[in-house]
Amino acid sequence: TETDVTETAGLAKRVHELTARIEELREQYYQQNASPVPDADYDAMVAELEEIEQAHPELAKEDSPTQHVGGAVDTTTFDAVEHLVRMYSLDNVFSIDELRTWFSRERHAVPEGTRWLTELKIDGLAVNLLYRDGHLVRAATRGDGTTGEDITPNVRTLEDVPQQLATEHPPQEVEIRGEVFFPIERFAELNAGLVESGQKPFANPRNAAAGSLRQKDSRVTARRPLRMLVHGIAAWTPADDSHPEPAAQSEVYETLRDWGLPISEYYRVCESAAEVEEFIEYYGENRHSVSHEIDGVVIKVDDIAAQEQLGYTSRAPRWAIAYKYPPEEVTTRLLDIQVQV
Ligand code: NAD
Repeated sequence: TETDVTETAGLAKRVHELTARIEELREQYYQQNASPVPDADYDAMVAELEEIEQAHPELAKEDSPTQHVGGAVDTTTFDAVEHLVRMYSLDNVFSIDELRTWFSRERHAVPEGTRWLTELKIDGLAVNLLYRDGHLVRAATRGDGTTGEDITPNVRTLEDVPQQLATEHPPQEVEIRGEVFFPIERFAELNAGLVESGQKPFANPRNAAAGSLRQKDSRVTARRPLRMLVHGIAAWTPADDSHPEPAAQSEVYETLRDWGLPISEYYRVCESAAEVEEFIEYYGENRHSVSHEIDGVVIKVDDIAAQEQLGYTSRAPRWAIAYKYPPEEVTTRLLDIQVQV
C-alpha cells in the first residue's frame, strides 16, 4: 500500500542517517581517540539500526556497521599488520531480560551442564600480542579485525607485558588478546599535566589509553602508566613439547598466568545463569572497587569445543555476549569537571 511505501522510504532514510553517523563516530573513536557522544548514545544508535535491519531485511546492507568490526588503520602513522586470526567484537545485551533470551537460545546449542565464564568487560582498547618461540615479536591494535596497526615499540614499554613467556616449552607461535587500559586513579593527574602543557585533556580513561598507546613516539607511551589484562588466545601452533591446548576458557587463563601474562583477578566460572546474574549484580554495585573502568560483564561459554561449534558471525563470536551496565551520569559529570581543571 501507499502507507507501506512511505514508511519504507522513511526507514531507508533513517538507515542511511544512522549508518553515516555511526561510521563518523567510529572514525572519531578509533582514529582520534575521542568520544563525541556518550557510549550509551552510540550503543542506542547501533541498536536502532539493528532493529530496523531485522524487521526489514531488504534494508540491511552488506557493509552496514552492524556487520563489521568498527575501526580502521591509520597508515600515515603506523604500519598495517595482518592478524594471524581475525579479531572480533562482542554482541551486546542491555538488560537482564535480554540476557535471559540470549541464554535460552544458547542453551539449545551447547551441551547440557555447560559452564559460563563470567568476567568484567574492561573499558580500554583491544591489543593483539604475537609471541614466537616465547618471544614477543609484534603487537597490534584491532583495526578492522583483519588488519591492525603495528604498535610493537609502544607495547614493549608496558611493564605488564613480558618480552618473553615464562615457560621453557612455549608454543611455536601464539596470539594473545587483551585490553590495554589507563588506571582510573592516575587519570586526573594525566589530564592536569596535559592542560598545564597546553595540550587537550582526554574525555575519559578509555580515550587516554588509546591516545597514549597510539603514539608515533614510544617514549610518550613509556611515560604513561598503562596497564594490560589478557583474555584470549588465538593462532596457537604448538611446539612438539609444549603445553597441550586448553580445553576450557578458564584453562586458557591458567595457561596465560603460568606464562607470566597479566590476567584479571575478577572472573568466575558459573554453573548457572542465576550465578551469572549474581556476578552482574555484584559488580553493578561494586564497580568502583576495580582499578580500571568497566562498561559491562562478558559471559563466555567455558568449553572450547562448544565455542568452536558455535563459531562466529561476521562481527562477533556466537559463544559470548557483553552485558552492558546502564551509563553512570554522575561519574561522567565528575570527570568533565576534572577535565576543565
Ligand atoms: P565493545 O568494546 O563493546 O566490545 C568488544 C571488545 O571488548 C573486544 O574487542 C575486546 O577487546 C573488549 N573486551 C573488554 N573486556 C573483555 C573481556 N573480558 N573479554 C573479551 N573481550 C573484552 O565493541 P567495539 O566494537 O570494540 O566497540 C563498540 C563500543 O565502543 C561501543 O559500545 C561504545 O561503548 C564505544 N564507542 C563509542 C563511541 C562514541 O562516540 N562514544 C563511538 C564508537 C564506539
